[in-house]
Amino acid sequence: MAQHIVFDIDLIKRYDQTGPRYTSYPTAAQFHTGIVERDYRKWARHSNEDPIPRPLSLYFHIPFCDTVCYYCACTKVVTKNHHRADEYLEYLCREIALQGQLFDPDRIVEQLHWGGGTPTFLDNGQIRKLMDYTARHFPLLSDDSGEYSIEVDPRSVDADKLQVLREAGFNRISLGVQDVNPEVQKAVNREQSRELTQEITAQARELGFKSINMDLMYGLPLQTVASFEQTLDAVIEMNPDRIAAYNYAHLPERFKPQRRIDEADLPSADEKLALLQHTIEHLTSAGYVYIGMDHFAKPDDELTIAQKSGSLQRNFQGYSTHMDCDLVSVGMSAIGHVCDNYSQNVRKLDEYYELLDAGKLPLERGIELEPDDLLRRDVITRLMCNFVLDIKAMESKWHFDFYSHFKTELDDLQTMQADGLILLEDDILRVLPAGRLLVRNICMVFDRYLRTGNDSSRFSRVI
Ligand code: SF4
Repeated sequence: MAQHIVFDIDLIKRYDQTGPRYTSYPTAAQFHTGIVERDYRKWARHSNEDPIPRPLSLYFHIPFCDTVCYYCACTKVVTKNHHRADEYLEYLCREIALQGQLFDPDRIVEQLHWGGGTPTFLDNGQIRKLMDYTARHFPLLSDDSGEYSIEVDPRSVDADKLQVLREAGFNRISLGVQDVNPEVQKAVNREQSRELTQEITAQARELGFKSINMDLMYGLPLQTVASFEQTLDAVIEMNPDRIAAYNYAHLPERFKPQRRIDEADLPSADEKLALLQHTIEHLTSAGYVYIGMDHFAKPDDELTIAQKSGSLQRNFQGYSTHMDCDLVSVGMSAIGHVCDNYSQNVRKLDEYYELLDAGKLPLERGIELEPDDLLRRDVITRLMCNFVLDIKAMESKWHFDFYSHFKTELDDLQTMQADGLILLEDDILRVLPAGRLLVRNICMVFDRYLRTGNDSSRFSRVI
């Protein structure tokens, strides 16, 4: 059912606006500096009190990159000096030790992810050191049954490094591809031959990585539908289990590297819509299932299965099958999710080092969720992940009257119902095929903070 999408250009243009991606609710825009170490320690204590120990998900932010990709909007440090990672790892280990003390040792690490930046900026010795140190402070699974993943820049790995990653316990990789066209690559300063990506993919398979994801980006300079089709075909041929096709958001006033992109080379809004439409049609006709937002997966992938069974979740890494975990995040700018609350580390390297030098957790901000936040987050998650909301099930789970609590929201949804985006019938709110691409708009109706003055223009465009 998730496969069925109606691509109605007029409707999309009518609803075109900016809005959150809802990898969290409330979004990071609501995080505030009133959240301090005492709060985080309290959350960790409470989460340890669960009668059945809740598993953990660990996230590590490795901020370094060799060169800058002009489209980049990540928190990163661009440097050719690989020794800088030694100092960073030393501090990361201090944070791991501090965090490790907060969580009971029976809380198994079911999920682990290294993101960046470029995690494969680390050399083989640094990779081993970080994983060994982590295993001393958190109970990692050593039987390959966890979901341990890493973002890989194919330009920064070889067969040896891939083998070290596999031996260190990683069993999933996500490869940055974006576009295989050499002209597009030049325009965004990310030159990476198709052969290199093919080679790394084949080596990863040989080494027994269970799942391979590839990240693409549409809306980059010089892209056309015809040129991007070649990228899609190249990726389909490499046969990854998952594909993410992100929409490039050109915000040069916020992201400095983007100022180096020649705006005259960017596809128009209509061309971008054509790129999106073609991407969805091409990938689904090649057998991938459209999961939602920018994500596609094979029919037998865990994401697809979780979506079918109604258990799919959403977190900072996009879609996930593990929401029961507390997310413990380490590294500059890393966002954690412990005991239903969010926290974020400081976003500057020198501040990160300073706080750890003082023996403190390097927290900058966060938010403690209120009951209404939890309820709305559940509504938004169900819509984002499953495109359907069972109102009676929500009422019995949260002990409230849905129709009176969300009276204003339901009034606002009437226009969407008239436009064929949703259908509310027999206590089921369903996102219709024409509403699937506009699911962020539908979720925004339930976002209390957008109603109370939060400016949606700080977010990316919904399409
Ligand atoms: S896109 Fe990734 S590899 Fe490129 S500069 Fe940004 S973080 Fe680094």
